[in-house]
Formats: sequence, C-alpha cells, structure tokens
Amino acid sequence: MCGVVGIYNHKEAANLAYLGLHALQHRGQESAGVVSADEGMLHAVRRMGLVADSFDRERLGRLPGSMAIGHVRYTTAGGSLPKNIQPLTVEYRKGSMGIAHNGNLVNAEKLRDELEEAGSIFSTNSDTEVVLQLIARHDSGAFVDRLAAALTRVRGAYSLVMISGDELIAARDPHGFRPLMIGRVTDSPDSVVVASESCAFDLIGAEKIRDVEPGEVIVVNREGITSHRLPTAKPARCVFEQVYFARPDSVLDDISVYEARVRMGRQLAKERPVEGDVVIPVPDSGVVAAMGYAKEAGIPFEMGLIRNHYVGRTFIEPKDSIRHFGVRLKLNAVPELLRGKRVVVVDDSIVRGTTSRKIVKMIREAGAKEVHVRISSPPVTGPCFYGIDTPTRSELIASTHSVEEVQRYITADSLSYLSPEGLLSAVKEDREIGFCTACFTNDYPVAFEPPASRRQLRLIEV
Ligand code: 5GP
Ligand code: SF4
Ligand code: MG
Repeated sequence: MCGVVGIYNHKEAANLAYLGLHALQHRGQESAGVVSADEGMLHAVRRMGLVADSFDRERLGRLPGSMAIGHVRYTTAGGSLPKNIQPLTVEYRKGSMGIAHNGNLVNAEKLRDELEEAGSIFSTNSDTEVVLQLIARHDSGAFVDRLAAALTRVRGAYSLVMISGDELIAARDPHGFRPLMIGRVTDSPDSVVVASESCAFDLIGAEKIRDVEPGEVIVVNREGITSHRLPTAKPARCVFEQVYFARPDSVLDDISVYEARVRMGRQLAKERPVEGDVVIPVPDSGVVAAMGYAKEAGIPFEMGLIRNHYVGRTFIEPKDSIRHFGVRLKLNAVPELLRGKRVVVVDDSIVRGTTSRKIVKMIREAGAKEVHVRISSPPVTGPCFYGIDTPTRSELIASTHSVEEVQRYITADSLSYLSPEGLLSAVKEDREIGFCTACFTNDYPVAFEPPASRRQLRLIEV
C-alpha cells in the first residue's frame, strides 16, 4: 500500500502535494517525497520517515513550479531503502520524468531480467523503475503513447501519477486494484489534482471530478484533460481498501468507505448474532464496523479499548520483535466498562492472529466475563500480490487453521467472520462493480510471475 498525489497548474503545487500526503499518511509511513516541476526542471525532496518529519518550510521552499507529484511509501516490492523512495525521477533523451506508484507489478522482476539482459541498468530495487525503463526505450510518439505501450507490458496493480515535460499523467491498471481519482481545486478551477483517496481532496480544498477508471490513462496539459484507454480486463478493485486500508472519510469508486463499513457491521450482526452486554471495537480499524454491529444487534456501543495515537500501525513495523509489544503500546482496556460483561469485540480482519490473541487476553484481564470476537471480513487465506504487504501464506493463520482452531488460539469464547457474499453485498449494495477478493477466495485476477532466479540485493545504503 502507498499513497499518491498530483497537482497541475497551481501556484502552490508543492504545498498542496505535501498537504495531500498528510491526508494519505495512513497508506504508508516508511518514506515521503514530493517532486515539483518548473520549466522542464524537476526538484525533489525525498526522505525516510513520516510526512511531518520529512518536510519543513525550508525544504518545501525548494520545490518551485506549478506542478508536483507526491508519494508516501510502504514497502511491497524492493526494500525499505533510501534509494527506493518515491517519486522516482530519471533523465533520458526526451528530458526528465517523475513517477509515483501505488500497487505492485507481478511481472516486474521478469521484465527487469529481460531489460538487464538487453543492457539496461537500474538504480533502485523498485518495480516502478521498470515502467520508466520501458517508456525510455520506446522512441516514437507522444508521451502518452509511449506510456501506454509500456503499460501493456507490465501486469499487476498500478495507480500512477507522473510528470513529463509540462504534462501531468494519471493511470490506473485495467483491473483497477488500487484507487485513484481526479479533482479540481475549488477556488482555482484551472488546477487539476489527482489522489489515491478523496480525503486528500478534502484537506486541500479540492472537489472530486470522478474516479480514474480501471484501464484509463488521463493526460492533463495546456489543452485540457484527455482520456485514453488501455486494453480492458475484468475490474478487480481491492475489497480490502473498503474493509481496512482506506480512511473511512474517503469515497472510493463512488462508495463511501464509512457507509460500507457500517453495512459490513450490520451484515455481520445479522449473520453472526451473539448475546452480549456491550459491543466494543478494536480501534481504529474496527470502529465503524463495530458501530454497525451494535446498531443492528441493539447492544450498547462503547470504547472499551483506548488507542494511543502517538504510535504507528504495529503491523507495518518491519521487525517481529517490535510488533510483539506493539499491541500493549497501542491499546489499553477500560476495566470499569468491561468488568463482569459479555463483551462482543469487533475488528476488521485477522491476519496472523497475534494481535487478536493479545486483545482478547487484555479484555479478559480487564474483567470481562465472556469475549466474543466478530470480524467484518472473511478469513484471509492467501497473500496479496497487488500492493499489500500481507505475510506469506504460511504466516496467515486462517490458511492452515479452521475457524474453530483460530478461536482457540486467540482464546475467544466465540469467533465468527463475515461471509464473502455478505461482504460483497455490504460493499456493493446493488451496484454492478467488480472487486478483487483473492486473499480470501484464492481467485487471483492476475497470476504472479516469478523471475527465473531470486534477485540479489546489490547495494545497501545505511
Ligand atoms: P492479527 O490479529 O492478525 O495479528 O492482526 C489483525 C489486525 O491487523 C487488524 O486489526 C487489522 O486492522 C490489522 N492490519 C494491519 N495491517 C493489515 C493488512 O495489511 N491487512 C489486513 N487485512 N489487516 C491488517
Ligand atoms: Fe485486495 Fe486481497 Fe485482492 Fe490484495 S488479494 S488486492 S488485499 S482483495
Ligand atoms: Mg486494526
């Protein structure tokens, strides 16, 4: 998961990109970068760490021009290394270009092997660099045609924002795995903005024009906005964006994430009712679904677990030792609320099961009489190849354990998940819209294409 923004024709382009990244910080906390364009010249600030720590007034002041793109990163392909910080930029015979990418290409390593075989050199481990190489090798036509030719060779997930010359380009892969949308700054109607989620538009005072369609390439230049089409594929938007990744105040593909989560909770209560005295969420990710559950079940909703907001998402911390005490760092129970109660605790997903186990223990230690766990998505049984850093299959508890076994492992009195059909109906209501559900149905829209041999890391920066 990563977040991207793009700003076209605004005198404070870099500032807006920076603010947009703040709104997208939940999509990646490893690094942040903004690249601005001023008369064909690119200017970049790229740092490891959070947006707030990566920029200050002085650094932002070094990003002139009326166009900018930005990126917050959470590593999937490549490593968590300074050289991989996006937006990536290159110079080639047609000038310079910059790219910010959310998603993961499933054939990048294979293409990279081929390109290296043909003499290409690479300066990052990022799958995104393959796209730049492919563009640079096409010598004819407008930029959008060279980009489209490159994109027909890569497979997998990409929501891209690019700068080339005086154009801003937004592209979404034919399956539309990751979200991407286009908007307009309200008090500067000639300015066009692009972002992963609509919460970024809200922060910068922009209104959404529409979602970039799966398989669509949008070019913004002096002539206006034009739309181009890549070869079509079956739409497969990531359903976990709705369940967990996106912010609830975002609207993705015309679906309010907040409302979808309330419906998931309601549906879960219908499918998996339980006698309880109180419904509590695992904050923050479980809050909205828990409210839906409580409403539907007619059980009082309370905040029985309190989150410390000054520590990040523990799952994303790359090291196991850190993740271990992460739960205690992040959450604490309110015994006054839980003592003697039958507690229904709602979370969005179980991945490894380690967090859930600690949470159940914490609720019991706070005096709960019973702990019933309700999960607003189905059991995750397979890895994601499309831009989410889920663990390998063997680390996914539901891939090797039945619901009953998971229940025993997390020491809950009962455990139930939302059904796949229930989830899809909650997200889609009655709309015709295609989603990826591969990590719980094993129905992968695009097969992962492993390279002939595993790539060796050849440079480590410290
Ligand atoms: P577990 O019990 O599996 O250790 O942790 C489950 C928690 O991890 C959930 O609260 C969920 O919000 C969170 N989580 C963090 N990162 C991810 C992710 O990439 N995918 C999913 N499905 N859940 C995640
Ligand atoms: Fe989303 Fe799961 Fe599909 Fe990955 S495999 S894109 S997490 S639904
Ligand atoms: Mg969570």
